Amino acid sequence: MEAPAKQLHVQPIEKWLPAVHKPLVISGPCSAESREQVLNTAARLHATGVVSAFRSGVWKPRTRPGAFEGHGETALQWLKEVHELYGFPLTVEVATPKHVEACLKAGIHILWIGARTSVNPFSIQELAESLKGVDIPVMVKNPLNPDLALWIGVIERFYMNGITKLAAIHRGFNTYEKNRYRNEPLWNIPIDLKSNFPELPLICDPSHIAGKRSLLQEVAQQALLLDMNGLMIEAHCRPEKALTDVAQQLTPEDLSLLVTRLKIPTTAEENPCKELEILRKRIDEFDLQLINTLSKRMQVVNEIAHLKNDCKMTILQVKRWNQVIETRMHEGIEKGLSEKFLKDFLDLIHKESIELQSKIIK
Ligand code: PEP
Ligand code: MN
Repeated sequence: MEAPAKQLHVQPIEKWLPAVHKPLVISGPCSAESREQVLNTAARLHATGVVSAFRSGVWKPRTRPGAFEGHGETALQWLKEVHELYGFPLTVEVATPKHVEACLKAGIHILWIGARTSVNPFSIQELAESLKGVDIPVMVKNPLNPDLALWIGVIERFYMNGITKLAAIHRGFNTYEKNRYRNEPLWNIPIDLKSNFPELPLICDPSHIAGKRSLLQEVAQQALLLDMNGLMIEAHCRPEKALTDVAQQLTPEDLSLLVTRLKIPTTAEENPCKELEILRKRIDEFDLQLINTLSKRMQVVNEIAHLKNDCKMTILQVKRWNQVIETRMHEGIEKGLSEKFLKDFLDLIHKESIELQSKIIK
């Protein structure tokens, strides 16, 4: 993973999007299809009491031409009515400076950048520059491809143009082979983002990860267990008739059910727990031992490299390495470690060992 360039001094999400109910939920249809659909969905979402902001796409990036592409500026007027009637802050996807201009004119409160736009630094630069001097929150979906540096780059471009009300949205990553999910969550990527930028609010979009209603609950729960700051979930007054993303949208009532079923975990800061502290001390101790052991192991590798150099031996000795793997795997599996973990761990050690030896043996 590439190291991020700098720290981000962004504003806490509570400052620009306070939650009316915990966890923070942003909901609304994938696309604004008609005035009636937008107002019907909003009225029913408002009645649930669990939604803090209303989302809708009005310009839809479609994979193939000819599909429904949204009603554009006309739909922004329907959204304005939603705000007037129910008070929801509004959020809309923008992909061009023209979209930005139309949203600012219509008084949209929060902009979001879609996954198909996040992949393109030229588009992002143009969008970021079009927002220079404008105080509006921007939420950045991860790019389609699993590239953390690219995702960070999008966030940095907005930040460098003066946007400090920023959030990231994790919507999963596109893969050619479709497995369980429409977009693979690859949770380690948002976790890496959070470790690098602890202040940056991180929202999960279970709808576009799951791609189907039946998986939404578990994806949303996992996001909360990973300490994400909120959820963006698509809801539609008649999901089965939706013009886009038909399999993943919920009725407002089902959305409410999903939210009330979520278990809200506490963080160690909110809930100090003596027992946890003691266990963490033990982990600290073991990690230190591991690091010491690894360092000693690499010192021996260093000695071996010099010896191999003197004896003019090859770095890689497959027979020996296969023996190492076999004995360590056997030992590790007996002690309850998983095969995959052991294999990955030993491969990593081997790679480092070969790199070290390559520097010495010429
Ligand atoms: C959407 O939120 O409807 C959308 C188009 O999402 P994404 O950019 O994540 O595909
Ligand atoms: Mn959608």
